[in-house]
Amino acid sequence: QTIGQALRRAALQWPDELALVSRHQRLRWTWRELDREVDRVASGLLHLGIRKGDRVGIWAANCAEWAVIQFASARIGAILVTINPAYRVSEVEYVLAKAGCSLLVTAARFKTSDYIAMLREIDPNAMPLLRIKVALGEEVQEGVLRWDDLRAEPDVPALTALEAALSPDDAINVQFTSGTTGFPKGATLTHRNILNNAHFTGRTINLTNADRICIPVPLYHCFGMVLGNLAALTSGAAMVYPGEAYDPTLVLQAIEAEGCTALYGVPTMFIAILARTDLDSYNVSTLRTGIMAGAPCPATTMRQVMDQLNMREITIGYGMTETSPLTTQTATDDPLEERAGTVGRVHPHAEAKIVGPDGKTLPIGEQGEYCSRGYAVMQGYWDEPERTAEAIDADGWMHSGDLAVMDEKGYIRITGRIKDMVIRGGENIYPREIEEFLLTHPQIQDAQVFGVADEKLGEEVCAWVIAKPGAELSVDGVLAHCRGNIAHYKVPRHVRVVPRFPMTVTGKAQKFQMRKMMETELR
Ligand code: ATP
Ligand code: MG
Repeated sequence: QTIGQALRRAALQWPDELALVSRHQRLRWTWRELDREVDRVASGLLHLGIRKGDRVGIWAANCAEWAVIQFASARIGAILVTINPAYRVSEVEYVLAKAGCSLLVTAARFKTSDYIAMLREIDPNAMPLLRIKVALGEEVQEGVLRWDDLRAEPDVPALTALEAALSPDDAINVQFTSGTTGFPKGATLTHRNILNNAHFTGRTINLTNADRICIPVPLYHCFGMVLGNLAALTSGAAMVYPGEAYDPTLVLQAIEAEGCTALYGVPTMFIAILARTDLDSYNVSTLRTGIMAGAPCPATTMRQVMDQLNMREITIGYGMTETSPLTTQTATDDPLEERAGTVGRVHPHAEAKIVGPDGKTLPIGEQGEYCSRGYAVMQGYWDEPERTAEAIDADGWMHSGDLAVMDEKGYIRITGRIKDMVIRGGENIYPREIEEFLLTHPQIQDAQVFGVADEKLGEEVCAWVIAKPGAELSVDGVLAHCRGNIAHYKVPRHVRVVPRFPMTVTGKAQKFQMRKMMETELR
């Protein structure tokens, strides 16, 4: 099955049930309405000359049109290139040229950014072929189509015939990684990759057409577009977009108003909700399940989410854009210890192994690099054969760059990124462990630990912490909490209490930026 066919089936199976709610647009569609809108835009794309394999760029914050473009491009076999909504002109031009996009769709406004103004500046030559720009909203300008111009009278027989000729193994997305460790890479993914991953993920949290998923994570990233939109599609659940950008108030309002049963987020998003002093004033009793993924999920946060947000069946997922994304997930019936402290076991039809530096599989309980294989592994990085060969070995194993340990029951713990490991005077230090420890401090809301260059020891441990609202947190207080409770070499040499961390749009702390800032400060 292809994504377009899956949508057709959903429209037949659940015609009048809710498919999509975009709260900031005051828009609600049933599966039949969504399917119909997708037909219009798919036909419009064909009229413009977009064909199978052509690249269509989407550069917008979360909105209903985002989903429409996602499904419409899939329906005609065009490859959707998902562009970070935080990107500015030169970055967008880079992606357009790199992926060879024929069309760029953007939104009118997003927070303070004026996309229309930026759109004017984008060099059309960045798009080698068709050079079509489409803007959502009312404003028009020279050479830019409006969204309405993209909507044509649907030619359903033609679309159905076209769809039947597509293969599930056709590339359908170029999805960019978060850019947590450096410049993002574009992973080329197929219908088979992401539709199956959405199905298995949704099944693990028992999604059905009675569910409503609150999706505050960005759609441009696999968490939103695959685990959100596509898992809704495979299960019949509704997608609920609380707003354009992450805002805990909008999330809580959406849950209450729409009776959401599932909530997604990276750990920092859940931490921000839990930190709300007015949490009790919202009714979140409809929540049942959800997914926390994308970055290390602290056990304390997991437990609080289960208790305070009523999410008894929340699961943790682990994966990467390159693997569609999830390859492991906790199950709702796993023992509490495993549900809060591990990333679960390997997904159906995926394989996992932990290897040492020599590439050999390590015994149970030993820490090494996590590798996975199976249907979920991407085709490769778009137009980067060398990087692809570095990441996927000859036997098809995707090397994650993450450190992990597997226990005798198959539960996996992610212990950090290889790149983030701090080597202090020859001692390997895993920031994750220190972060988990710092989070046990009653006044610390969030913590990031990383290494900074040090003349004597090679690297030194540095911690940035965010205090809970109203808390009085001092550097000495943090140090006192550490001394005597963790090994002396793990006690951060440098501690800073900061208001926020440098973050990716997907909500991950960028340690390479913090390291740069600290090294400049310490120099
Ligand atoms: P980039 O590759 O551009 O530096 P990124 O790796 O953060 O960014 P993504 O593909 O969005 O880009 O994220 C995948 C990574 O996120 C994994 O390799 C892992 O490091 C981290 N991750 C995802 N889920 C979890 C989890 N549950 N626990 C710990 N880490 C996780
Ligand atoms: Mg990565």
